[in-house]
Amino acid sequence: MYPFTSAKRRRLLLIVLGRENGKCFYCDVPVSMSARQFLNSDAKRARELNAATLDHLIPASRRGEDTPENTVCACFGCNMDRGDRPAIDFLYEKQASIAA
Ligand SMILES: [Zn+2]
Repeated sequence: MYPFTSAKRRRLLLIVLGRENGKCFYCDVPVSMSARQFLNSDAKRARELNAATLDHLIPASRRGEDTPENTVCACFGCNMDRGDRPAIDFLYEKQASIAA
């Protein structure tokens, strides 16, 4: 997960954020760009305010690339909760919990 983004990753985040209509790919909550100010300083607040993060479908640690095809916009909470699990597993689990 990459909350601490470079300028390049910030631009990529804005692209995927637009593609996903400003919502988290996993849970559909509206994400906040302004809440990103808390990513480094206050994780609890970043989670509560649904700070926008860039999430790699194939993790960068496994050679996943910084491309629109390999990234989605996720709220900070989903990004943290997914951890190292495959994105598709987390997506199904999240959607099932929302539908329940
Ligand atoms: Zn989410």
